[in-house]
Amino acid sequence: MKEILLLKDGEIVLKGLNRRSFEDVLKKNLKNTLRSLGRFEITSAQSTIYVKPLSDDIDLDEACDRVSKVFGIVAFSRAAVCEKTIDDILSTAPEYLAKELSFAKTFKVEAKRSDKKFPLKSPEICREVGGEILSKFPHLRVDVHNPELIVNVEVRDFGAYIHGEPRKGAGGIPVGTGGKAAILISGGIDSPVAAYMMAKRGIQLTAVHFASPPYTSRRAEDKVVRLLRKVSKYAGPMKMYTVPFTKIQEKIKDECPEELFTIIMRRLMMQISSNVAQQNECFALITGESLGQVASQTIGALACTDDASDMLVFRPLIGMDKQEIIDISYKIDTYDISIEPYEDCCTVFTPKHPRTRPVLKYVIEAQEKPGFEPLIEEALANLKLTYISAEDD
Ligand code: ATP
Ligand code: MG
Repeated sequence: MKEILLLKDGEIVLKGLNRRSFEDVLKKNLKNTLRSLGRFEITSAQSTIYVKPLSDDIDLDEACDRVSKVFGIVAFSRAAVCEKTIDDILSTAPEYLAKELSFAKTFKVEAKRSDKKFPLKSPEICREVGGEILSKFPHLRVDVHNPELIVNVEVRDFGAYIHGEPRKGAGGIPVGTGGKAAILISGGIDSPVAAYMMAKRGIQLTAVHFASPPYTSRRAEDKVVRLLRKVSKYAGPMKMYTVPFTKIQEKIKDECPEELFTIIMRRLMMQISSNVAQQNECFALITGESLGQVASQTIGALACTDDASDMLVFRPLIGMDKQEIIDISYKIDTYDISIEPYEDCCTVFTPKHPRTRPVLKYVIEAQEKPGFEPLIEEALANLKLTYISAEDD
């Protein structure tokens, strides 16, 4: 039996004249995520995208799993394709949904007929298919109000399709339609979630990670790579820049007041990241900061961090509780990696009593006195580039 995936596009419906270009990006993203599974034909009509496998040996379970992570799709169904004749519909429906039908106690049929040339009207299709199912599965009862299973029959321009309950899609808008931004990624729980949330709004990501060997290990950096591969399942492939941060952190430790270590480090991270971001045509920075979570994320500390760069900064977790962030990290499968215990550069040289209400003027003075420009230039000249792809997960 031939199968197809029918995808319902979501918010892009709202985009008026831009709709075509949104849909083109969505189709390209689908093509990219499915490429390694085999060949597919991807077309669209009437707010539905048709993903048709072009050979019989394609793993459609895996295809559904990948499609479920593509932003811009609200719902999708794996459906049987049949000829546009009532006979074929009647023989396909009970066979294709046999397993679901034998487990359910009640069902109903819903029919959509967008091809008005089809001789039966929707209520007639429902009646015929319902009758056929009842004759094959006599334990079933029809319940039009609260059925356990809905059998969907869609008669469209290019064929007829049978499917059960549609699955929920990833929502959001297609990655790449919202411009580019740089995510400051640590090995923690928060920043991968922040990355996911902005990708969901159509942003294409470039990742920036600060590493301070030997205080941070090779494995800490590898952990970030593995986290980004998980994020890539939603956000698509991306570049990751690793910034050598050791000398800068040592200079902070040697020449800045201890209670301002973290805040000055965060300012330098923002400065360096905005430089990397500009080189990569990014319009904004993204961080995993959440108001009040730690000393460097009080309103005053964030104001001092924010001052360090002119670039727009997105902080999608700002109003979220830790548990809400953790729930998303479970969903995107980053939690288990995030809790692996490797040092992050943020936990190297942490002050015993960080300032929770830093005064910007003094912070700037304390940062300017030693002067970090030569070291910033050196770090920017020694960035390491890694290509991240979900395929390597
Ligand atoms: P996370 O769980 O994302 O590490 P956190 O709660 O531990 O966040 P901080 O360590 O204060 O908070 O970091 C705040 C934000 O700064 C992170 O969410 C991330 O965006 C950025 N950041 C922290 N460490 C690094 C790093 N080593 N490289 C790049 N960005 C970082
Ligand atoms: Mg952290």
